[in-house]
Amino acid sequence: MTLEVNLKKAADYLARFAREGVPNQIGGKAEPAADGRTFETRAPVDGAVLAQVTRSGPADVDRAARAADAAFRDWAAWPGDKRRKLLHRIADAIEARAEEIALVEAMDTGQALRFMSKAALRGAENFRFFADLAPTARDGKTLRADGQINMTGRVPLGPVGIITPWNTPFMLSTWKIAPALAAGCTVVHKPAELSPLTARLLVEIAEGAGLPPGVWNLVNGTGEEAGRALTEHPLIRAVGFVGESATGSKIMAQGAPTLKRLHLELGGKNPVIVFADADLDRAADAALFMIYSLNGERCTSSSRLLVERSAYERFTARLAERAARIKVGHPLDPETVVGPLIDPGHATKVRSYLTRGKAEGAKLTGGSGEGCFVAPALFTGATNAMAIAQEEIFGPVLTAIPFDTEDEALSLANDVRYGLAAYIWTSDLTRALSLTDRIEAGMIWVNSENVRHLPTPFGGAKASGLGRDGGDWSFDFYMETRNVAFATGRHAIPKLGA
Ligand code: NAD
Repeated sequence: MTLEVNLKKAADYLARFAREGVPNQIGGKAEPAADGRTFETRAPVDGAVLAQVTRSGPADVDRAARAADAAFRDWAAWPGDKRRKLLHRIADAIEARAEEIALVEAMDTGQALRFMSKAALRGAENFRFFADLAPTARDGKTLRADGQINMTGRVPLGPVGIITPWNTPFMLSTWKIAPALAAGCTVVHKPAELSPLTARLLVEIAEGAGLPPGVWNLVNGTGEEAGRALTEHPLIRAVGFVGESATGSKIMAQGAPTLKRLHLELGGKNPVIVFADADLDRAADAALFMIYSLNGERCTSSSRLLVERSAYERFTARLAERAARIKVGHPLDPETVVGPLIDPGHATKVRSYLTRGKAEGAKLTGGSGEGCFVAPALFTGATNAMAIAQEEIFGPVLTAIPFDTEDEALSLANDVRYGLAAYIWTSDLTRALSLTDRIEAGMIWVNSENVRHLPTPFGGAKASGLGRDGGDWSFDFYMETRNVAFATGRHAIPKLGA
């Protein structure tokens, strides 16, 4: 496909949003906000308005929460196998519309089509994975004691709120919503205001595949209005959130009066530690991929590169050379790797770190660009105390720091408020094992970039989050575990007052 062909196709898919806007979906019906308000969503590539989006307030969120509550009892009673078949039908329908999803997502987020086409298929995979777990989601343990048999089991929690960010919004929405549905919960989804389009496609796909009305409701709007109202709503039993650490703190406070169960997947400043004995070719490929794919707007990006001093010059020179060859361009150009960042405000934030890093004394290569475009940037000669090494930039900016010993590498890796992911490159097995024991991160990859295996736990330590997704961990969040104890004999009961 050429850029021209993709532009034509994208225009066809986007025409309906330009015409009809992006309504909420409440109780199976497309609806505007009660007070009729809307906001614009724009294409990062040129700032063109793509659609008018419903700007929901507390009244709209209340209606969505009530719809989710009304649908809960019937949905929770669906047999697991019936739920499994329906979730597979949703996955089939996502696959059938993968091209539309990828093109719309690329235009709404600025992410390169080469990655977004895979994001749609990964979304389908998320549904299939949790579909197959649905029949056993309620299972538990049998625990015996003298004179007693205990049976644990799980029941779906109730209506839950899902709040998602603007980086890879389609994939992340499926990752959060599929397990909630498989568990038997009903959902109110509030997508990011900067990238609302594919969330609309997703709920339509699900209902088209046979999901009953009210099981999945969509409310669009800002975080402070719609998001806040969702986290404060008394009928919403839990909130699954993906976004910034500062927003996670706010959600904790907002959810406190109604004692919300929370799962927070937050920011990261993930170290990739490269020892001189590593396969440096593979380490370079992985480091480049994890910071410059998805525009660097990725929570598990390898944004801090720690390299053993003897290999530092060689390794960073190689990265700089490769980074300069990465194609920056229109997200629908099949050759593009780095597209425009999500919006002008975010591009300004990312650029401010380029200025700041230089002012702090690090050497910058790359990073040019106009508007929302920021070319791959590499800082060398940085120290861990610099803002570019401590703060989440969430763009294609890599900060490289040398180290001399394993202990120094470890202390640099841990000396940051975040603890989402870490990557270790070495051919020394004992060193790898020892480091994995001591690195403060929820997920560690050894001699690998981020390759997800869906049954494994996903989540962060420290300021990177609370709780885990993936496999059975997702069900622990979306379900209540209960214990039922049976007496197996006629044990003596204290006879008070006898
Ligand atoms: P954000 O926190 O600004 O927004 C995320 C969502 O929260 C949006 O839908 C927003 O409208 C909503 N929101 C904002 N304020 C709210 C409030 N007071 N109450 C309720 N909802 C509110 O994050 P972002 O800028 O959209 O996304 C980027 C961030 O997401 C980065 O920090 C990134 O690391 C993080 N992220 C984490 C993971 C992970 O799995 N750990 C994955 C992807 C992204």
